[in-house]
Amino acid sequence: MILSPTDALRELKEGNARYVAGAPRPWRANAELRAEVSKDQSPFACIVTCSDSRVPPEILFDQTIGDLFVIRIAGTLLTPEVVGSVEFAVEALDVKLVVVMAHSNCGAIRAAVSDLPLRGAVVSVIARLSSIVAIKKRQGFTGDELASEVSRQNTRNMLEQLPEQSPAIYDELSAGPIAIHPAYYDVATGRVSWTL
Ligand SMILES: [Zn+2]
Repeated sequence: MILSPTDALRELKEGNARYVAGAPRPWRANAELRAEVSKDQSPFACIVTCSDSRVPPEILFDQTIGDLFVIRIAGTLLTPEVVGSVEFAVEALDVKLVVVMAHSNCGAIRAAVSDLPLRGAVVSVIARLSSIVAIKKRQGFTGDELASEVSRQNTRNMLEQLPEQSPAIYDELSAGPIAIHPAYYDVATGRVSWTL
């Protein structure tokens, strides 16, 4: 279902409120719905977020199969593959709302702000955050506050970089109506806040 950015945002806010209240809609991921969406998909929002097991967008926004186009990567990072996936959502699927959602207590962010030695391909994940970490450390942030600041700044950077790195996304934003919105998920309360 194609929704305007405003309606899509309202749907996500209402879904999160149901989730936080412990009053989700009746579970609808059944054979009937599967058959309904099997031929085609029309998700109403694209969510870019972390792979963290405590951050499942369909659950915390109280949505079901066919509703959300979800891109997950440890640390919520912007790689060419993530940019390409967002392009697919807005160009091919006509999604009008893209949400970039960071979260509290992120393991990848915590690894990026720690001085522990890392090895293997995970180093490239952490390296994408290193310049933000350096800036925030210079600004005097430490501990949990440093991790939170890095996470929020990374999200702000992603909002700017998405249209910069993708002429297709830039064109979609210029033509409108389409929105790229930040969000921050608190893994303890279950609440999504919509400002950074
Ligand atoms: Zn995370």
